Amino acid sequence: METIVALATPPGNSGVAIIRISGEKSKEILNKLIHEDLDFEPRKMYLKNVYAGDIVDKCLVVFFASPHSYTGEDVAEIHSHGGYFLSQKIIDTILEQGVTLAGKGEFSKRAFINGKMSMDQAEGVMDLINAESEMQAKAGSNLIQGKLKELISDYQNTLTDILAEIEAKLDYPEYEYDDTETKSLKERLLALKTDLENLIAESKSGLIIKNGVKVAIVGAPNVGKSSLLNALSKTDKAIVTDIAGTTRDVIEAEYEYNGIIFRLYDTAGIHESDDVVEKIGINRALKTIDDCDIVLKISTLNNICDIETNKPTIEVFNKSDLYSYNDDKYIYISALTMKNIDKLKHLIFEKTVKEDFNSNKLYLTNTRHIECVKKAKKAIENVLKIFDETTMDIISSEIKSAWYSLGEITGVTSDENIIDKIFSKFCLGK
Ligand code: GDP
Repeated sequence: METIVALATPPGNSGVAIIRISGEKSKEILNKLIHEDLDFEPRKMYLKNVYAGDIVDKCLVVFFASPHSYTGEDVAEIHSHGGYFLSQKIIDTILEQGVTLAGKGEFSKRAFINGKMSMDQAEGVMDLINAESEMQAKAGSNLIQGKLKELISDYQNTLTDILAEIEAKLDYPEYEYDDTETKSLKERLLALKTDLENLIAESKSGLIIKNGVKVAIVGAPNVGKSSLLNALSKTDKAIVTDIAGTTRDVIEAEYEYNGIIFRLYDTAGIHESDDVVEKIGINRALKTIDDCDIVLKISTLNNICDIETNKPTIEVFNKSDLYSYNDDKYIYISALTMKNIDKLKHLIFEKTVKEDFNSNKLYLTNTRHIECVKKAKKAIENVLKIFDETTMDIISSEIKSAWYSLGEITGVTSDENIIDKIFSKFCLGK
């Protein structure tokens, strides 16, 4: 396999940039860069001059001998000073040595191919890198630690045991299953089906962890929608004025609560308008309501929000620092004085993230994993449906298909195209 190189840190000015090389030529290239011929002690940092054309930088270099590296191949790292030009210059010098620029996710793909990590673990690495919230980071680290891989292997082992029993008897067509045997097979399949069903049901929380909760803020102009977005997110993303119609487009901001990301969409005030631009904003606001998980209907004393939606809603009464009102359906807040803002956050959390949400639980957070579990569950469901009417070789082939679907999660049963597709979604240098 070709030796590859990529910048492992973001391009731009920084204290340090890390350039990573993986493949057979790693050691040779590293020596060429430092103008020496060292037999590097693995995993030991060396302070060396690195020569890139006419530029010389003092760098830390390190060599990892196969298989004890991220990719499982020989790997070299150059920790140069972080500068866009400098790191590019070093990479260009390496490329001149017949090394190839790594594609997206290529280091992780090699780690997977070399058995350093399963597919879901590699996906966990990306999830951890992209995490914006505590729970997203936790989900990524659960994957990296192999928690899902273990669970999936357990399920696959159950299926392997059942298959072994069935297959052993397939060679003896005259073999008659007695009731206890079929009952035991069915019971085990049913238990597995229930486990998979639970996993699928709970993935709703997993997707909330992964994607966050979308919150639309709606109401008439000037009721304080922009002020509320700023108050919830503790930013000043939205322009606050007392001129009606200031927010003409959907403004986004976010905040984290109990480890979950809440994405706020401050919409244009929904009302009759002749202004063309404002009208577009109002239409977008209506579309935002459609796409979100919960709607905050903002009212004030003079402007009761009567927008109808079938989404979960919270009736919010703003400017309660100025006016009091008496209706239990509202939560009384003030975006100006921050009165009850935390209470509102709690209410949003309660209404969207289910009560049985357990931050220590393993949830499926990746739609690919969810789809594989769904396929496996369907195959088992089918086995149970046809169990009494069909032959054992058909049952065996359906069970195998469930086993394969589960194996796609960890990648053991994935074909090359799928593997390429998954890793192409990774970032450069990972
Ligand atoms: P939007 O058009 O619904 O986005 O409303 P804005 O957030 O732009 O607010 C309109 C006006 O109401 C501004 O002058 C805000 O300062 C004011 N305002 C917003 N929230 C409150 C509040 O809770 N109390 C008071 N007293 N004024 C508020």
